[in-house]
Amino acid sequence: MAKNFDLLQWARPEMLALKPYTSARDTFTATDGEWTFFDANENPNATDVNRYPDPNQTELKKVIANLRGCGQDQLLIGNGSDEVLDLIVRAFCAPYKDDMIIMPPTYGMYSVLANISSVGIIKVPLDATFQLRPKEVLAAVTPNTKAIFFCSPNNPSGNAFNPNDIQILLEEFEGIVVIDEAYIDFTEISSWSEKLSEYPNLIVTQTLSKAFGLAGLRLGIAIANPEIIALLKRIKPPYNINTLSQQHAITVLRDTKAVNAQIAESIAERKRLAQELNAFSWVVTIYPSDANFLLIKVDDAARRYAELLDQHIVARDRSSQENCENCIRISVGTPQENDKLIAACKSLSK
Ligand code: PMP
Repeated sequence: MAKNFDLLQWARPEMLALKPYTSARDTFTATDGEWTFFDANENPNATDVNRYPDPNQTELKKVIANLRGCGQDQLLIGNGSDEVLDLIVRAFCAPYKDDMIIMPPTYGMYSVLANISSVGIIKVPLDATFQLRPKEVLAAVTPNTKAIFFCSPNNPSGNAFNPNDIQILLEEFEGIVVIDEAYIDFTEISSWSEKLSEYPNLIVTQTLSKAFGLAGLRLGIAIANPEIIALLKRIKPPYNINTLSQQHAITVLRDTKAVNAQIAESIAERKRLAQELNAFSWVVTIYPSDANFLLIKVDDAARRYAELLDQHIVARDRSSQENCENCIRISVGTPQENDKLIAACKSLSK
């Protein structure tokens, strides 16, 4: 049986009461035929972008809903998933009052967004194998805890979380559970968006920045129950997705053959990289990855990072993160880029 969730109890009252800005293009539906626009003070001379974009991203939403197997009313599109995550914090967490739980090591923006909104952060670190500790998370919940944020597959460790642990959080925590699935396309594990009918308090976020190769466009999505989506829509900037991004994404997403081939290549290269890097004496551990990157514990991360940089290879030193001492994160590149990385690694000092 589906769990009960009362949006009125969890959303910020100010957000529920907010009278949203209505953009010019919200107030009518253009049908076929010729229309002349005097409503939005645009420059009337035609270029590709002299008109404001569709604030509802109707066409793009159709394509994404079809791709992700959800309803259009279950979908919010943001200027990157960073914008979507920010909207979630602002919709549910009151400044100077509420808090949210994160599980480090995790994606850095959750705490940045909480700080920007003056929302408290409760940290419940992952265990030594980078898995969730659901009992400890539930024990950390306060009367003001409005949301739990985590990513699975996790950044920076790369692993997907144990589904039983996620299920415990979804069942036992009554507030908003945000599962950030930025790396979902690189794993066999299915999206939690398939469980939305059971968990009305679940918000799944995904991005077109990783597998779909559109990081420069800035497009991310939230998939959630229509009530939550309607609330987020009310507080989003009206024209948050520009015309060129909408058009380009529609073209890319209508034919995902090339993207699927790239995903398969990335997964194969991830395996090859792990095998090849494992042979180096200065590599201590390569953590299992369900994403398009590998977290690698080395003998001395600062030194290896600097040595790679000397060869114009940029990795990410994650040593400052919980449980990540001497860990470097390496994205999976093209086969040629990975060859370059391996060659550079061969020349590092012993
Ligand atoms: N979530 C996670 C876990 C990420 O690693 C990233 C980007 N590094 C994002 C969200 C942000 O993605 P976007 O480009 O859609 O803002």
